[in-house]
Amino acid sequence: MNKDIIVFAGPSGSGKSTLCHLLLNNYRQFEFSISATTRGMRLGEVNGKDYYFFTQDEFQKHIDDENFIEWEEVYPGKFYGTLKTEIDRITNDDKKAVFDIDVLGALSIKKVFGNKAHIVFVKPESIEVLKERLKDRRSESEQDLAIRIDRFEKELSYEDSFDEVIINKTGELEMVKGSIDRIVDIYFL
Ligand code: ADP
Ligand code: 5GP
Repeated sequence: MNKDIIVFAGPSGSGKSTLCHLLLNNYRQFEFSISATTRGMRLGEVNGKDYYFFTQDEFQKHIDDENFIEWEEVYPGKFYGTLKTEIDRITNDDKKAVFDIDVLGALSIKKVFGNKAHIVFVKPESIEVLKERLKDRRSESEQDLAIRIDRFEKELSYEDSFDEVIINKTGELEMVKGSIDRIVDIYFL
């Protein structure tokens, strides 16, 4: 089967970004879909590479102009979305798009692209592990951490709507890489 889009979705800290990097580093036919967001830039992030960092007004203007394929207020006051031009950029490059987005965004992408998209739910072995990974990553304030943890249960309830579930077990990245190789073999060659 020749699909065009792979989406990794799941709770914060489940390992979506780690899986995206595994895929992108091993398979040249994929390109990362850079999302737009209103959240602040983290240390080491680059505008136009990790995200397009927008002000609230800029983001709202893109909503009004219907420039997004999908967008969500993932955390209170923090907006994230996929610009239509991002898909055009990747398609024009003759590449397949890799998404790291939230669960509702993933379901919207599935609605728009149907069988052309493979949506993968990424989860760790337990909620406790999620909390630890997020704390260890040290990328959020105490308050932002609590907001992310609050969302876990709701996000985990969407698992059954996905094409596939990958359990990203701590210290088992080789196994996860095997799952990615299998997905590419079946759906992207
Ligand atoms: P997400 O993109 O879903 O928020 P990340 O990929 O940033 O999650 O992973 C969260 C943290 O957990 C990172 O510090 C990452 O290095 C770590 N991590 C991810 N997968 C594993 C794994 N299988 N074993 C150990 N640590 C992991
Ligand atoms: P972070 O702030 O950790 O980079 O991302 C927070 C959450 O927003 C993650 O679940 C991430 O996957 C999600 N996200 C990133 N980009 C998008 C997007 O374009 N659309 C949607 N719906 N969610 C996104």
